[in-house]
Amino acid sequence: MSKIVILDEKTANQIAAGEVIERPASVVKEMVENSIDAGATQITVEIRNGGISYIRVTDNGSGIERDDLELAFERHATSKLRRIEDLDKLSTLGFRGEALASIASVSQLEVTSKTEDALTGTTLKLEGGRITSVNQAGSPKGTTFIVRNLFYNTPARYKFLKKDSTEAGYVYDIIQRLALANPGISFKFIQNNQTQLHTPGNHDLLSVIYSIFGKDTAKSVLPVSYKHEGFILEGYVGKPEIARGNRNNQSVFLNGRYIKCKVITKALEDAYKTMLMQNRFPFCVLKLQCPTESYDVNVHPQKLEVRFADENAVYNTVYHGVKSTLLKESGIREFEPKIDEAEEKHDTPVSIPPIESGINKKIPPAAFSVLPKQSTLFDRPEKRILSETKDDDLPEETGIQYDNKPMYIEKNEVFEKAKTVEESVSFEKTGQATENAPVKELLDAAIIGQVFDTYILLQSGNNLYIIDQHAAHERIRFETIKQRRAKNEAFSQILLEPLIIKLTATEYDFVMEKQSAFQSVGFEIEAFGSNTVIIRSIPDFYESGFSTGDFHEILDRWIQTGSDQSDISDEALYMISCKGALKANRPLSKEEIRGLLESLCTLENPYTCVHGRPVILTMEKKEFEKRFKRIV
Ligand code: ADP
Ligand code: MG
Repeated sequence: MSKIVILDEKTANQIAAGEVIERPASVVKEMVENSIDAGATQITVEIRNGGISYIRVTDNGSGIERDDLELAFERHATSKLRRIEDLDKLSTLGFRGEALASIASVSQLEVTSKTEDALTGTTLKLEGGRITSVNQAGSPKGTTFIVRNLFYNTPARYKFLKKDSTEAGYVYDIIQRLALANPGISFKFIQNNQTQLHTPGNHDLLSVIYSIFGKDTAKSVLPVSYKHEGFILEGYVGKPEIARGNRNNQSVFLNGRYIKCKVITKALEDAYKTMLMQNRFPFCVLKLQCPTESYDVNVHPQKLEVRFADENAVYNTVYHGVKSTLLKESGIREFEPKIDEAEEKHDTPVSIPPIESGINKKIPPAAFSVLPKQSTLFDRPEKRILSETKDDDLPEETGIQYDNKPMYIEKNEVFEKAKTVEESVSFEKTGQATENAPVKELLDAAIIGQVFDTYILLQSGNNLYIIDQHAAHERIRFETIKQRRAKNEAFSQILLEPLIIKLTATEYDFVMEKQSAFQSVGFEIEAFGSNTVIIRSIPDFYESGFSTGDFHEILDRWIQTGSDQSDISDEALYMISCKGALKANRPLSKEEIRGLLESLCTLENPYTCVHGRPVILTMEKKEFEKRFKRIV
């Protein structure tokens, strides 16, 4: 027969810890939030082994009085809440008074704290939640927590931890969010004795963006400031050119808390419609303020997800706030009711989004052309480099440019390569033309020409062939890379001016881990300071230049599809192929078309591109006759 027992304090704490404390990042989050609550203006977080063996959080906040220090580790000990009525006000901010008790119960913890008035500080040590020593200690005002060997006494939890670099990445993400939410606080993050992040704490959000995402991003963001129906939206959104292949660079804060909210994401992305290609996601750091009554955060234990009472109002605030920022930048004014007007008209029912069609009509599509400028670089490389260099009248012959503009490769090398392709058109071939009939037909076909600078038209016998030039070239690229890799051929070209790229901690670890896989596809990458890499070589088929944005796209795809394998994923290889491939909207000479066809016909499967889209369509003469009703 079973008997009901009351769990002892220690077990109860460990169970509670399971809820709140999942991994080192959750410890860091709770501790840093306590530091913020204590009024700190400087917070240092140091971790080793992804925080599993060591976490230190030091702040210059109010400190904890000696008598309170032991109390702080009691379950439901909090200085922030006295009565149940307070809970209503505070629950939205996540005070539960159990973080310290929970953390202490699953680690070896040490805390040293001193208040302004105390003569000396006090150090308290705990093992699995039990106090083992209390001592006086010399210390400046503020508090330092050291958490060692997280989950040392709960093996089941320990087992769920990921590898150090992954856990470190989660910690970095948390600090990044807290730093973005609190520009007035100087955050320092040290990982394995290296400073990874240091924000100035000068109350300027743009400075925080600079510290976290680097100079290129900080240069490419636009300020947002908008008010609508009691909502206040502030922050920054990225210009279309720094959009990424995932939403990692989107941070949204509601009354100072990092949140995820589908309505806000949708509004943000709708505001960018027509400015971004498919599957590109804008950068943002947005801060929304509104009365706490207008939303509910208790739907998710980690309090990331939020439900708004009036989703339309939120949508409209974010949509118009972001849209008006983007339009201001493009020099076109949005056709919309004036902000004050909208604020006054509380009774007007608002639909989502009320004026979109109006906006779209007002915007000439050209204003939003964010595709990288079509390079005219598909000619033989040597011609291009010389002429571009001259045209741009650059000081040296390097032709190096930053940002998303093309980077040029060393001239001599190009000359070398150019010589070998002098007479032929520069499409790589993967082997002998396959001996199947349709391919033969393609080779023998008469080239009619190109339509829309994008599709190639051929006629052979009773068939019209239509070829998507980008898809075709991408396919050729992909097969070539695979074959060259199989043969262990080197295909790097040295960049005259290496590319320096700032990454997130997770990305950085990923790149470092995959350094040799990167090398196998032509990228020579080295560490270059905190979360920064330097790219010294790129694949030699990037004749038309290579940008930071290109690298991010490849990296995003690789992380999404291949983090568990040591070699490069096929999807990442596709992306590499796609980046260098001939674009749509690019006029081709007959000679170039011929070259493309010849290469295409050496492929085993010339019929679909690497993304599975068709490369070649055909239409029979009979189909024409049917459509023109010559036959029935
Ligand atoms: P809560 O934050 O919900 O009150 P915690 O368990 O996180 O509960 O913290 C318990 C108490 O310990 C806090 O209410 C606060 O009084 C004190 N405390 C924790 N960390 C700090 C700190 N860094 N500086 C000052 N006081 C702190
Ligand atoms: Mg707390």
